[in-house]
Amino acid sequence: MEIRETVIVGSGCAGLTAAIYCARAKLKPLVLHGHEPGGQLSITSLVENFPGWPEGVQGPELISNMVNQADKFGAEFQAGEVAKAELNVRPFVLHVGGKEIRTQTLIIASGASARWLGLPSEQALIGRGVSSCATCDGFFFNGKEVAVLGGGDSAMEEALFLTRFASKVTIIHRREHFRASKFMLDRARSNPKIHFITNATVDEVCDPAIQKVTGLKLRNVHSGHTHTLALDGVFLGIGHIPNTRPFVGQLDMDEDGYLKTRDYVFTGVPGVFACGDVQDRRYRQAITAAGSGCMAAIEVERFLEEQRDHLPPLSLFGIKD
Ligand code: NAP
Repeated sequence: MEIRETVIVGSGCAGLTAAIYCARAKLKPLVLHGHEPGGQLSITSLVENFPGWPEGVQGPELISNMVNQADKFGAEFQAGEVAKAELNVRPFVLHVGGKEIRTQTLIIASGASARWLGLPSEQALIGRGVSSCATCDGFFFNGKEVAVLGGGDSAMEEALFLTRFASKVTIIHRREHFRASKFMLDRARSNPKIHFITNATVDEVCDPAIQKVTGLKLRNVHSGHTHTLALDGVFLGIGHIPNTRPFVGQLDMDEDGYLKTRDYVFTGVPGVFACGDVQDRRYRQAITAAGSGCMAAIEVERFLEEQRDHLPPLSLFGIKD
């Protein structure tokens, strides 16, 4: 059975950058892409903060360019979720679609998915006024009224960022008390553009029938009373879920399931590297994901080089070098 030099799990900015570097190093990387090919950028509209694109670039276009670039140098792509990973054997074994893939090194770039409410109306309006990224999409809400859902630091941060553009930002939280740090909460509370609605859940995002956000139907959790708040945009700030399930019990993770790394991309298992949002809950930017993807690829090259140096010469096995 073929043993790969490297497999990259994930095809967002981190995974694709790793693929470009590994492919240029002639490692013939196999990129596995799961249920969100292209990662979070593939559901973003205009990206204006990726260096080198002064006019901005559409997220899907940026991703498709990266795919073409990796493909040009010989990266291979395969659809499939990793159901199980065996990292305690050499080569490592990945179980994908009922088959086994063996590899000497592994780059985990499986990202973190934004947590959504899961309402059909919300899903129908993603990219049409519903967003999970203020940094990406806030600019489009200049002079408009928006809501941020959530009561943690992410929600406060998104709301504060959005005040640069929006005329009014309403933070909507399902409880009275906030999970956010006092510092972030105080900053949000002291911003005159930010308003709060607590003890409220969202019944529906209006209005999928006209393909744009016009408001939120809110329900008071105590009284059950509903009312509709008119809005132009809705930002989800209810957390992210790192895609690390196949690695549970094999790699160090924090309490929320993010992979723990040292020196940027090293996991606790030699030969397994992690990059991008799956190990970064702090920056979560396309450019930082791309940067760490580059680091992971360089470490893969170094690791394989060191392994080769320590392998016994083929002549020992009666094989000509
Ligand atoms: P978080 O702390 O887990 O907060 C998520 C918030 O969303 C909570 O208030 C939660 O409500 C709410 N929520 C979750 N599911 C919901 C649902 N289905 N419907 C409605 N509301 C829902 O996540 P986070 O804010 O992304 O922060 C994650 C970590 O990153 C934290 O450790 C945070 O401190 C850190 N962080 C720090 C900064 C910073 O310091 N600048 C910025 C961002 C994040 P409940 O409170 O009711 O559970």
